[in-house]
Amino acid sequence: MKTAHIPATNQQFTIGKIVCLARNYAEHAKELGNETPAAPVLFMKPASSVVGDGETVQIPAYSQECHYEVELAVLIGKQCRAVSAESAMEYIAGYGVAIDMTLRDVQNQLKAKGLPWEIAKGFDTSCPLSDFVPAAAVADPHTLNLKLAVNGEVRQDGSSADMIHRLPQIIAYISAIFTLEPGDVILTGTPAGVGPVRAGDVMKAEIASVGRLTIPVA
Ligand code: ZN
Repeated sequence: MKTAHIPATNQQFTIGKIVCLARNYAEHAKELGNETPAAPVLFMKPASSVVGDGETVQIPAYSQECHYEVELAVLIGKQCRAVSAESAMEYIAGYGVAIDMTLRDVQNQLKAKGLPWEIAKGFDTSCPLSDFVPAAAVADPHTLNLKLAVNGEVRQDGSSADMIHRLPQIIAYISAIFTLEPGDVILTGTPAGVGPVRAGDVMKAEIASVGRLTIPVA
């Protein structure tokens, strides 16, 4: 079992499902040649895909192209089913930083065949996830700077202000389909600048005042 921590309040949650948004930043949708969706595009990662700060991403042998995607992670604190956008923010326990590791070559092959993406997105170690800060510590989750560097070189430098679907709408939309439970995590999509990593690289992801991750690649 994987655990999410909020050190400031000494809270721990067993991680449940990880619901992820694809194409939630227009510039990133464009860089992959995807249309900007009217409704959120969702996929899931299993809790078993989580690794913590300092742990290693292992690229599976069936891929030659593993990409990083830095994302704002939202930890759900209370059971949440078909909530309105107006009340949705009450269900957030905390915020953290995640890297949605993606086997881009495998995903592109699956997309071309209309097949599901799980083996490209949910493999073991595909979800580096930081500790969380309490929701109350983040005045506005839609003004956060997201950064990712590989071997010290900045590759992604974006703002959560550019999210197409914002948290109240995201939580209302997801909770009408999947009941959200304490310990569930939402990954809210990635800004532009995604690219490959190779064995021996070190990724550093940071959302100022939220969290940071240092993750080597094997
Ligand atoms: Zn992503």
